[in-house]
Amino acid sequence: MRTPILAGNWKMYKTVAEAKSLVSACKDDLLAVAGVEVVFCPPFIAIPAVADLVAGSALGVGAQDMYWENEGAFTGEVSPLMVKEFCRYVVIGHSERREYFGESDADVNKKIQAAFRHGLTPIVCVGESLEIRQAGDTETWVAGQVRAALAGLSGEEATGLVFAYEPIWAIGTGLAATPQDAEHVCGAVVRATVRETYGADIADAVRIQYGGSIKPGNALDLMSQPNVDGGLVGGASLQAADFVAIVRHTARAKGLA
Ligand code: PEP
Repeated sequence: MRTPILAGNWKMYKTVAEAKSLVSACKDDLLAVAGVEVVFCPPFIAIPAVADLVAGSALGVGAQDMYWENEGAFTGEVSPLMVKEFCRYVVIGHSERREYFGESDADVNKKIQAAFRHGLTPIVCVGESLEIRQAGDTETWVAGQVRAALAGLSGEEATGLVFAYEPIWAIGTGLAATPQDAEHVCGAVVRATVRETYGADIADAVRIQYGGSIKPGNALDLMSQPNVDGGLVGGASLQAADFVAIVRHTARAKGLA
């Protein structure tokens, strides 16, 4: 069985002081839920404080992005060497990075390769815009993003990657995908595309999150889908009680609680 993985993407929210109080408010409750991998992804500047609070526990810390070079004259960027001092995970290719900061599929692939060079687990976001969905092109689009993400990766690396299927129209809108749609794209598109190149064993091992307006009220249904192995949670991860509720629902959905 694939271990479910829930990651809280805090985006550009929470000062260091707020980050500490959020983690302190949910840490014990999260640790009481067995069998679900839980990751906090705070803004870079709060990462050391959050890492300190969860040190030695099963809770993980992830960056929301990173550059692919180890060091250099890249003003404003953060390197894998810096990230790995504190984090085991890194979110790559979030639709906000792709849309507002011009990240291409090729950039995403370079970042994924850099993550593996440095022993980080990449959480790779894919997903279609409303226009693409309305044109009926979701499957082609998402499969293309998955193929581009996987370019040049070994089977072992592909197994270690976490995909997050995040339909852009569902992010921050309150309009989550239906559980059936989430299951379809996670299973029949993302997992099926991994299978094309790497075969059934690797495709069955790779974890695929759903992301987009996950809330306590829809988490059980979404997480009950067999090809949905967890979630990437934005807004609801900023509220301790909501994030804990989503993690508990995930454990229940997967028969772990
Ligand atoms: C996200 O930021 O990846 C996300 C899914 O946000 P939200 O849960 O707020 O839709």
